[in-house]
This record gives sequence, structure tokens and C-alpha cells, in this order.
Amino acid sequence: MQIQPLPDDDLDPRDRGGQAQPLLIVEGLRKFFRVKTQDGKPAAVKAVDDISFTVFKGETLGVVGESGCGKSTLARLLMHLIEPDYGTLIFDGEAVDSPDGITVDTLRQQLQMVFQDSYSSLNPRMPVRDSVAFGPLVHGKTREQARAVAKDMLTKVGLNPDLFGPRYPHELSGGQKQRVNIARALAISPRMVILDEAVSALDKSVEAQVLNLLRQLKRSFSLTYLFISHDLNVVQYISDRVLVMYLGRVVELGPVEDIFSRPKHPYTQALLGSRSSMDPARRLEEPPITGDPPSPIDPPSGCRFRTRCPYAEAVCAAEMPELSTWRDRESHVTACHMQNSASGHSLADVMGRA
Ligand code: SF4
Repeated sequence: MQIQPLPDDDLDPRDRGGQAQPLLIVEGLRKFFRVKTQDGKPAAVKAVDDISFTVFKGETLGVVGESGCGKSTLARLLMHLIEPDYGTLIFDGEAVDSPDGITVDTLRQQLQMVFQDSYSSLNPRMPVRDSVAFGPLVHGKTREQARAVAKDMLTKVGLNPDLFGPRYPHELSGGQKQRVNIARALAISPRMVILDEAVSALDKSVEAQVLNLLRQLKRSFSLTYLFISHDLNVVQYISDRVLVMYLGRVVELGPVEDIFSRPKHPYTQALLGSRSSMDPARRLEEPPITGDPPSPIDPPSGCRFRTRCPYAEAVCAAEMPELSTWRDRESHVTACHMQNSASGHSLADVMGRA
């Protein structure tokens, strides 16, 4: 499937570069957390290590990987909730937190986040309509205008504002609280929303309703999503493209159909092989992934997946495989020596042509 850019009529008035300009470009993003090992020596958790990718206007980019792979750290780096060690963010053509670009505050007016834990994201002592109105109030609306925005947003997420607005978070179900969080994120009219495991805590039937709501809101508000989840079925359902992370690095990136029907990286193949499917025709032949990932404090040399990869060879320990290109919508790229005919891996010619 070719991913369709937004029609001109749907472009946000704040749009600067038109459809062809990505909404977000991430280049060389890195975050190491300083820690002490058990014997008291200083060490670094390599949570996100030299990550680059692009998010196009109007798309949903799914981000998958095992827990601890750096997905949530990545989300917080994009929001500048934590400071990156290195790397550049370019939002609609403007560098973030740079003298010639936009400030972090301006970024946060256009980029919002919805977390997994719907309860702790809301102030327990505040009626939910006030939680939704808080953002618009902080961004210069009068109290009356902010209340009107909150009322509208609660309606848009399927909650009757007269019924649910005066309630406190503990009076709502998990699905209702997550709807409030989505209303709160949308209340300041962002252009992009990061959804970090946003439906993971919900029952399956409620999850489906919230996913459909997200798709509908995306169309209504011409939004762009970064959708982080460990649930591959959910990612397949909602995403246009998928980015696969392993131990702080991007190992594969491409259109959702390509990733799910023709995964190239052995890690993606194993990840997909391990997912539950009721349809035998959709089960892949690769064995489920086994064992735990190595410690991000002391990751393997070269390819980080080599300690679990059935195809690992000497070149995999000696050299880190890189993603070849990552800037266009249709590319299906992977960081594996088998996909590079010049790498010296004995299967490179066979797999690289596949
Ligand atoms: Fe396996 Fe080597 Fe490819 Fe890494 S680079 S996934 S170890 S074959």
C-alpha cells in the first residue's frame, strides 16, 4: 500500500513546508543514563543510541520492540521530557531548542503525549473538565474559553461533558479516563500525538473502541501519530509504517505491510513469530525469540542482536550494521549484515536479494 500524504485542504494552517516536508526528523538521537554497577563502578545504560528516522505528515508510525528496548525513553526524548545527550529534532523544518529554530515550549504546543497509565496522568483532586481545560488556560485562553474547549473535546472523545465533566478520575472507568487523557492532549490543538502504550492497560473490547476513536480523531484533526506498543496486532491495525527497536537501536523500518509480511531482520522475524495469531495462515515459520535481551549497560559489540541471532557470524561481532536509508516513505530498510552484499556475511548475497 502506498501511504497517502494529507490532501492540501487538510494541511494545518501552521504547516510550513507542505506535504513533502516531514513533520518530524530525528537525527542521531542518543541518551545514556549514568548508573553505578553492583560493585559501585560508574556505568551507562545505553537506552537510546544513535537513532534516526522521519515521521511524515498524516501518518501513523508504529514503534515496536521488547520492554526495555528504549521505546518509552525515545518518546520522552521527543517531547524533551528528558534531555538528549546528542541528536537533532527538526519539527516541520525547524530545529528544536536551537537559536535558529523553535523552543521546547513551541514544540510542546504542537506535540502532545498520551501515556499508558490513565489514572496517574490525571489530577485526582480536579474534575476532569478542569484537567482538559488546563492546557488551553495555560496557553492563553480565558477561563470561559478553556471550559468551552474542554466541553467540545470531551464531546469529541465520546463523553457527554455535562455528565462526565464534573466527575473526578476515580469515578471513571479505565477507558473513560483514557478518553479524557486524549481530550486533554488534543485540547491545545497539537499536530502530532505520541501514544505511549496508550491502549495497553485496557480490556480488549474497550481497546478496540479507543483505537477506532484514535483513527477517527486523526482524520478529524489531520493529526500525525507516533504509536508505541508492545502489542504487534494493535500496531499492525493502526500503523502506516513501523519502526522496530532492539536494545536502543532501530533495526528495521518500513511500510506496515512489508514489515508484517516480509520482515527482513532476524529480530523482527522472531518477534512476529512469537506473536499470538488465531489464523494458522498468518503464523510465521521462524521460531519465537528466546532468552532475555543482553544488558543495555554492556551491549554486545557489533550487532546488538548477535547473541540471540541464529545467523550471527564474525562480521556481526566486528561491525555494527547500519540502516541504509531512512528518509523516504516507501523504503523498507534494515540494519543487518545479511542485507548488505558488501558486508562479508556468507548469506549476504542470498538474503540481500530476498
Ligand atoms: Fe544476525 Fe548478523 Fe544480521 Fe545481526 S547483523 S541480525 S547478528 S545476521
